Amino acid sequence: MATDVPSELADHYDVLVVGGGHAGAQVAIALRQRNFDGTIAIVTEEFEQPYERPPLSKDYLSGEKDFERILIRPKDFWRDRHIDLGLGRRVTAVDPQAHRITVEDGSTLGYGQLVWAAGGHARSISCSGHNLAGVHSIRSRKDVDTLESELAATTRVAVIGGGYIGLEAAAVLTKLGKQVTVLEALDRVLARVAGEPLSRFFEAEHRAHGVDLRLNTQVDCIQDRDGRACGVRLADGEIIACEMVIVGIGMIPSVAPLRAAGAGGDAGVDVDEHCRTSLPDVFAIGDCAAHKSAFADGATIRLESVQNATDMATAAAQTIMGAPQVYHAVPWFWSNQYDLRLQTVGLSWNHDEALVRGDPGTRSFSVIYRRSGRVIALDCVNATKDYVQGRRLVVQASEASSEVLQDPATLLKDI
Ligand SMILES: Cc1cc2nc3c(=O)[nH]c(=O)nc-3n(C[C@H](O)[C@H](O)[C@H](O)COP(=O)(O)OP(=O)(O)OC[C@H]3O[C@@H](n4cnc5c(N)ncnc54)[C@H](O)[C@@H]3O)c2cc1C
Repeated sequence: MATDVPSELADHYDVLVVGGGHAGAQVAIALRQRNFDGTIAIVTEEFEQPYERPPLSKDYLSGEKDFERILIRPKDFWRDRHIDLGLGRRVTAVDPQAHRITVEDGSTLGYGQLVWAAGGHARSISCSGHNLAGVHSIRSRKDVDTLESELAATTRVAVIGGGYIGLEAAAVLTKLGKQVTVLEALDRVLARVAGEPLSRFFEAEHRAHGVDLRLNTQVDCIQDRDGRACGVRLADGEIIACEMVIVGIGMIPSVAPLRAAGAGGDAGVDVDEHCRTSLPDVFAIGDCAAHKSAFADGATIRLESVQNATDMATAAAQTIMGAPQVYHAVPWFWSNQYDLRLQTVGLSWNHDEALVRGDPGTRSFSVIYRRSGRVIALDCVNATKDYVQGRRLVVQASEASSEVLQDPATLLKDI
């Protein structure tokens, strides 16, 4: 596997970014776009230049895109913009008084402003067998390269978790000719992020493509043959024989050093509307940052999306530049499975109504979510027009009637 050699770093940076994912890369890019002329470094655990994570369960996994094509910027970009990359360096501690961080190797670095953009790590399953060879998660390039190196010897794959990453992986692996079983603990897939009509549609699609999809299914353990996974035993005793297990059960925010330094938060690190943590001169952005969202009825939430990482990065860059801008971006997200493109705008998690617009049987339709009669989100399947035009309904919390919203003859832009 080609990796980049960690470069030498200075002792102090005006802006020090921890984490070289979407959020970390974007804050450095946004600062240079705004003519920030101070010193910037990105210190990150992985040995790769910043790259896009969504293709890992889509076209990078399928082999349709190589690594060069998923880099966030071309290789020379960082050097040309005078952004130092400290690859292969995991930050273990933050000293907010001294304005210094400590790296795993014991070295320390000073900062003027610290931007914590460390995302998170894949949650591992706690049952026995979780660390056997052949058990994978999909969070980093290394994860996917390792998984791919075992694919030729794999006929059957068990995917634990029917969330977006598990379902995307199931779709790719099915297309690659593998026999895929998806094991979901709840009574429907995508239960935490989408309404029932969308879940049922994707369940039918996966089954139609040959996936053995099990709902209400508890995993007891992963079975071991000579140190390798050879099956998943379910709570009812059934054994799903397989050569590979993919665990897609969410992520854990990488925030321990910041929390140990005193930053407030629960599952992540709390930030204000300018992405500032409770520590002086320390920002947090992206998957690890929890913020109060007007799109979630004022609740404090963490979003795991490229949109959130990018827009929070811009808000933090604006504040660093002395022109604070409140983070108030409409959440959006996408997922590709087979020939289906799902586009989501808004947040549906506390909806009380899910209206279907169009006919799921045509494989082009939308689900419009409302709370107390107001539109809060749309899930659009092969329906880009609805996605583009529905955004305004979310921003304005439209009170249009369900008859109008569900009438495919009425364009959403005309509502
Ligand atoms: C397989 C997959 C598919 C996805 N698909 C979609 C999609 O279709 N659409 C969408 O909108 N979003 C998608 N996402 C989510 C999206 O990729 C994330 O929301 C986004 O990557 C978050 O960016 P981030 O910079 O906050 O975190 P990350 O991208 O996780 O980057 C954080 C970086 O910090 C590093 N790091 C962690 N701890 C430390 C430490 N202590 N010291 C130094 N470095 C550290 C990590 O190794 C990592 O390189 C997907 C995610 C995955 C994993």
